[in-house]
Amino acid sequence: MAKILYRYNAATCQYEPIFLTSKQNTKRAFTFIGVSLMLALAGLWYYNAHYPSLDEVKLQKENQKMKWEWEVYLDKINELSKNLTAIENTDDNQYRVLLSMTPLEQSIRTAGSGGHEPYILDEKDQVYEIKSSYEQLYRILNRLDVESQSVAELEKEINVQEKKTSTRPAMMPIDNRQLTRFNSIFGMRMHPIYKEWRNHNGLDLTAPQGTPVYATGDGIITTTEWRGGYGNAIFLNHGFGFETRYGHLSRFNSSAGQHVKRGDLIGFVGSTGASTTPHLHYEVLYQGKYVNPVNFMYRDLKQKEYNKIIKH
Ligand SMILES: [Zn+2]
Repeated sequence: MAKILYRYNAATCQYEPIFLTSKQNTKRAFTFIGVSLMLALAGLWYYNAHYPSLDEVKLQKENQKMKWEWEVYLDKINELSKNLTAIENTDDNQYRVLLSMTPLEQSIRTAGSGGHEPYILDEKDQVYEIKSSYEQLYRILNRLDVESQSVAELEKEINVQEKKTSTRPAMMPIDNRQLTRFNSIFGMRMHPIYKEWRNHNGLDLTAPQGTPVYATGDGIITTTEWRGGYGNAIFLNHGFGFETRYGHLSRFNSSAGQHVKRGDLIGFVGSTGASTTPHLHYEVLYQGKYVNPVNFMYRDLKQKEYNKIIKH
């Protein structure tokens, strides 16, 4: 039932009912609908402006998750870079120093990583961050390439130096316990047989006939034959410019062309050639010149260590 509106009439001092015409009624209805519609639209606009839609909420969550993941990813890149820097420093300041190699130049370490056109993007833009991280990762990959090449160089150098060390004539050719006399005269001396001043180019190690003679470093036997004053002689080529010679042997325990290791039994002490008593005449040559063998020996080699090297 429609409400009846009343208006106070001052003239009659009474409330009188108001009767609206249908036109007035229609106008009021439209006004009501119009205002309601405007309020509804205003409400919708306010809501949209201040509250995200369900899709937006989902996107925001995904975005947040990606940001976290991105931060973890950046952390990992930085960690990787730091670890690589530590490896590069160890390479340059320890391994290369130990091996007497020059450190890699910084320009080599960064080669190939500095030639990119910078990406011209707003720094606040996330895409910029992605691209700059890509750049960083790219630089790390380049540095890794250089480092792995450097490690290969180090390995090569280590092999060469190992070989140099194992071929160096670095020990006594006979066991100290067999040694009755150690004549370390290297240079001019009166020759016991020729009775004249001659250059003595090696060491004379006096020991009983048949005492084992050992190779003093790795190498290839080039001679096992009678050689004048040397008598029965072994010549051993060690490479890297080194040669050792073993004279006055009673017999051989090796043959020409044979590869030997330090400590291999190659012959036996005798008194063949220009010799008056059983002894080993031992020479070391470097680039064809006689050098004092004593300078190449491990003078502090203990008997136990010597026993480990020699192979009977
Ligand atoms: Zn001699």
